[in-house]
Amino acid sequence: MRKKIIAGNWKMNILPSETAALVKGIAEATKGYSNVDVVCCTPAIDIPAAVAACAGTAVQPGAENAHWEPSGAYTGEISTGMLADAGVKYVIIGHSERRQYFGETDETVCKRTTAVIKAGLTAIVCVGETLAERDAGKVDEVIVRQMKEGLKGLSAADASKLVIAYEPVWAIGTGRTATPEQAQEVHALIRKVLGDLIGIDAAETVRIQYGGSMKPGNAAELLAQKDIDGGLIGGAALKADSFAAIIAAAAAK
Ligand code: PEP
Repeated sequence: MRKKIIAGNWKMNILPSETAALVKGIAEATKGYSNVDVVCCTPAIDIPAAVAACAGTAVQPGAENAHWEPSGAYTGEISTGMLADAGVKYVIIGHSERRQYFGETDETVCKRTTAVIKAGLTAIVCVGETLAERDAGKVDEVIVRQMKEGLKGLSAADASKLVIAYEPVWAIGTGRTATPEQAQEVHALIRKVLGDLIGIDAAETVRIQYGGSMKPGNAAELLAQKDIDGGLIGGAALKADSFAAIIAAAAAK
């Protein structure tokens, strides 16, 4: 039985001065849901406020990216050691917006993921096809490549520090959601590829989130699918009530 995990991706929203209120609102609204891991992945500048607000609650702080080098001349970057020292527990890696706008590749996803896990943090590794790739019948090809290249070198021992987020790019921030069947089909493929990479037993323990316009109204049917173990939420994570409603749907499964 895999514990459900609902993570918010705040992206470049929410000021440091707004962070504590949002985290506390989520913590308050989801008190008692011990069968769901709740994570808020925030902009780097919000992390100290998020860590302080998460203390003593079941909400866990996360980041949206990390560099693979431990230190050095990388202006503007943040290392996994810095994130761990600040109290972060989870790090999103390879989000499609980073792939699209900031030159993220499967190779850099692999380097970042390896560094995150080595630092004792949990990596939320995003994979997903664009609409053009789906229309061209290339979903499996894209997902298999992103998985094999992005997770190269990982082993069964890393499974507990790994979460995969399937985020069809055409569903992110668009209001268009994959149907539960479309999502389940890709989640099953992801678990199969994970089995090839780290072994079937370890693959069974890895949580696979769906992300892409998940909302209170569609969360339950998505989360009812066999291989959908949670959600990575953008827009609906920016308000405590909508995020809490998705967490409630996960807790009811
Ligand atoms: C995301 O950015 O990871 C995401 C899923 O966004 P949204 O929920 O807004 O589609």
